[in-house]
Amino acid sequence: MINTDIATKFADRETPFYYYDMDVLARTLEAAHEASQKRGFHVHYALKANFNDVLLKRIQEIGFGADCVSGNEVRKAIECGFTPQNITFAGVGKSDKEINYALTQQIFAFNVESIQELEVINELASKQGVKANVALRINPNVDAHTHHYITTGLDENKFGVPNADLEKCASVLKKCEFIELVGLHFHVGSQITDMTVFKSLCVKVNEWKNWFEERGTQIRVLNVGGGLGIDYKNPDSNSIPDFEAYFDIFDRFLERKPYQEVHFELGRALVAQCGSLISRVLYVKNGVKKNFLVLDAGMTELMRPALYQAYHKIENLSAVETEESLNYDVVGPICESSDCFGKEVPLPDSGRGDLIAIRSAGAYGEVMASRYNLREEIRFVYSDQL
Ligand SMILES: *Cc1c(COP(=O)(O)O)cnc(C)c1O
Repeated sequence: MINTDIATKFADRETPFYYYDMDVLARTLEAAHEASQKRGFHVHYALKANFNDVLLKRIQEIGFGADCVSGNEVRKAIECGFTPQNITFAGVGKSDKEINYALTQQIFAFNVESIQELEVINELASKQGVKANVALRINPNVDAHTHHYITTGLDENKFGVPNADLEKCASVLKKCEFIELVGLHFHVGSQITDMTVFKSLCVKVNEWKNWFEERGTQIRVLNVGGGLGIDYKNPDSNSIPDFEAYFDIFDRFLERKPYQEVHFELGRALVAQCGSLISRVLYVKNGVKKNFLVLDAGMTELMRPALYQAYHKIENLSAVETEESLNYDVVGPICESSDCFGKEVPLPDSGRGDLIAIRSAGAYGEVMASRYNLREEIRFVYSDQL
C-alpha cells in the first residue's frame, strides 16, 4: 500500500500520472550493484524497460552500462552520460542508419541476430574504415516458462541466430575483416521467476562457448541477457528482487576462463517496483452482472494488461479499509474492450474521485504509453520532489 501521507500529497494533482518512489529505486539498484560487483559481473540496464531521464541518471550514476534496442536509445544513453564503451545494441531489425550511428560512436558491442546482419555491419564498417565489435546472439532454445509474448529463446521465436546457421556463421565471421567477435549473447525471455530456467541457460552457454573455442575462436564476453522477474502480487513485502540468488546461479553454473567476462542486461528487475500509475475513479457503474470502476487512466498509459493479460496489483488510496470488499472490473476510458486493468478485483467500497494506484508499473509502463484517442501526454511525480 502506498502510505497515506504520500496519498494526501497527491490530492491536488491532475491524474493520471506515474509516481516513482526514488527510495525503492535506490535500494533496488544498490542490491543489484552489490550482488553483481562482488562476483565481477557487468550489468547493462535495458533502456527499453524505462527511458525516463530522471531514472536513467540514477542508473548511470551507480555505474551500470546500457543495453539499447534502437539507434535512438543508443543516442539517449550517451546523452544521459553512459559511455559508448559500456553500451550494447541489440535487435533483430537494425536499420543501416542505426548501425552507421552506433559505428561512429564505437559502442561496446552490436548483438547480432543473423548472418545477413553480420554482412551488412561488415560492409558499413568497411565504408567508415572502423572495426565493429560484435556479440553473436544465439537462440539457446530454452523455455522461459513465461507468457508466450515475452518468450524469446525458443526455436520458433524470431530472435537470435538459429543453431543450424552457426556453422555457416563461424565461417562468414572469419571473412568479415571489419568485425571483431567479442563474445556470445543470449536472452531467453522476460519476467522469469523460475531460477532453473537460468540454470538451463548456463548449460547452453557453456556448450556454445566450447563449440566456438574448439573451432579456434576465442570468446571474451558471455552476455546472458536479462529477464529476471519481479513479484507483481506483493510489491511491498517483496519489493526488491533476489539478486543474490540470481547472480549466484550464474556464478555456480557458468564455466569461465580467467579472460572471460560475464555481462547481464537487466530491465524490469531494476525499475518495475519503483513505479505506480496513479489515477482517479471517474464513475462507478453497477451493472447487472458486474460492478465497473471506470478510471481516468487506460491502456494508453499502461498497456501491459491489454497487451499480455499482465497482472498488476490495484489499490484504492482514498477509501477506508474495511473487512468488506466488493469485486470490481477496473477499466479505462479507451474505446477498446481490452482496456481493462483487472477483472473481479477485490477493493473496498469505491466512489467517484477516489485515488487508485496500479502498482509495479515502473517497467514497460511509461515507455509504452501512446496518444491513441488523442490522450494527454503522460505526467510524472517523483517521491523526492513531493
Ligand atoms: C528486453 C530485453 C532485455 C531486458 O529484459 P528484462 O526482462 O526487462 O530484464 C535484455 N536483453 C534483451 C536483448 C532484450 O530484448
